[in-house]
Amino acid sequence: MTIQLHDTMAGAARELVPLEPGHVRVYSCGPTVYGPAHIGNFRSFLFGDLLVRYLRYRGFRVTWVMNVTDVDDRIIKGARAEATTIGELSERHRKMLVSDMQTLGIAMPDFMPKATENIPQMVELIQKLLDGGHAYKTDDGSIFFRIASWPEYGRLARLDPEGMKVGERVEADDYAKDDVRDFALWKGPKPDEPSWETSIGPGRPGWHIECSAMSMRYLGPSFDIHTGGVDLVFPHHTDEIAQSEAATGQRFVAYWLHNAFLQMGAQKMSKSLGNIERVGDVIDRGISPRALRLALSSAHYRAPLSFGEDSLQAASSAIDRLDALFAALATYRCDGPDDATLPDLLDGARAAFEAALDADLNISPALAALFDLVRELNRRIDARVLSTADASRATAFIRDLDRVLGIAPALDESLDLELQKLVDDRAAARAARDWAASDRLRTVLAERGILVEDTRDGQRWRRGE
Ligand code: AMP
Ligand code: ZN
Repeated sequence: MTIQLHDTMAGAARELVPLEPGHVRVYSCGPTVYGPAHIGNFRSFLFGDLLVRYLRYRGFRVTWVMNVTDVDDRIIKGARAEATTIGELSERHRKMLVSDMQTLGIAMPDFMPKATENIPQMVELIQKLLDGGHAYKTDDGSIFFRIASWPEYGRLARLDPEGMKVGERVEADDYAKDDVRDFALWKGPKPDEPSWETSIGPGRPGWHIECSAMSMRYLGPSFDIHTGGVDLVFPHHTDEIAQSEAATGQRFVAYWLHNAFLQMGAQKMSKSLGNIERVGDVIDRGISPRALRLALSSAHYRAPLSFGEDSLQAASSAIDRLDALFAALATYRCDGPDDATLPDLLDGARAAFEAALDADLNISPALAALFDLVRELNRRIDARVLSTADASRATAFIRDLDRVLGIAPALDESLDLELQKLVDDRAAARAARDWAASDRLRTVLAERGILVEDTRDGQRWRRGE
């Protein structure tokens, strides 16, 4: 079986064939850390996470890079408003980003470079473009990419270069340039703005050059997959392609993958519309991080996803079902023979799961395969057709699929020694039919947040809210 991915450049799904056999190199456009990231941004990062996790599950080595843009107009403005430095402001938000990524169970990228730590790489790239006649300097020390020097400009976004519309961020640049379409690689120094002394003159980098320099630094001039939200197709990724390919003469990226937006009703969730929610806000409302992760991952990445209470409740109850199954399997004991049809059940679930994800990461049927299996395992637990060993097999099987999904209960659910002793004492009291002691210990445990339940297979515990 092969993995098909929808490539924006081709406008169609294409089989993934890594440039270097067995190794997939992925770059994801990360956030601009002028404020805390919102859950719309996290939809984009969770899509990167799903892609990387699935490629690893399928046996590829993956190198994943996600940048942090820590210098831009909004950061400069924000730092000025708070009377702090851009370094302090962006580092504060970068730390929040990492903490929210951990909360959501996003795998840490292999590299998370900051723009300000890659200025020499950007300068080198810009110098190459100047040398090759693809860039020019203006009186104020800014440097622009000359779009007229690059006939292939705009293919990704299917632009007609002649009638090209000017992008928002291009318009925002009030620097003199030869052609209105040209975009800034380097912005000349201005009073009250941070500036770097470099061989191409003083100033600061434009946004697009950052991603070209950082991706090529860690992944080479030509790599496999570049991801980002659909809003980045133009101008950001369009400009990245032009400047990278003009500088190196090689194809920059083999597969361009773009996620659709997280929406509030019919609108994109975005800071400028004022309809954002942050990870912490949702967790504070009592939604578990795993339920939020599932809610933000449960639609195909190219389909708009509406965020709301319904999706959170559906995700929470799905997580509860999964937790209940794990708890039931952990305590299940049955001396009977193995269930002869369990291997077929598990093989079928795996085949459906992989077929779905192979088809451009089609998450919905993959989740359906898992939750159909959950239902069937519950049925077999109730009917007591599984053996004790089958229960362990089923647990290990779901944990294996969960390498991709990241929604199973944490592996280390072990109790600290003191709580473990209380749980053991209660089990002993029950075994000795000392109901008074067993009830008392149940109350003590409940006060400590551990809920014990008596089942046919003995005592079972779980953490309460
Ligand atoms: P930014 O910090 O604005 O550069 O955005 C970081 C990433 O989040 C980019 O890939 C954006 O395309 C993506 N993004 C921003 N808003 C949303 C949203 N509402 N839904 C999905 N992705 C988004
Ligand atoms: Zn980028």
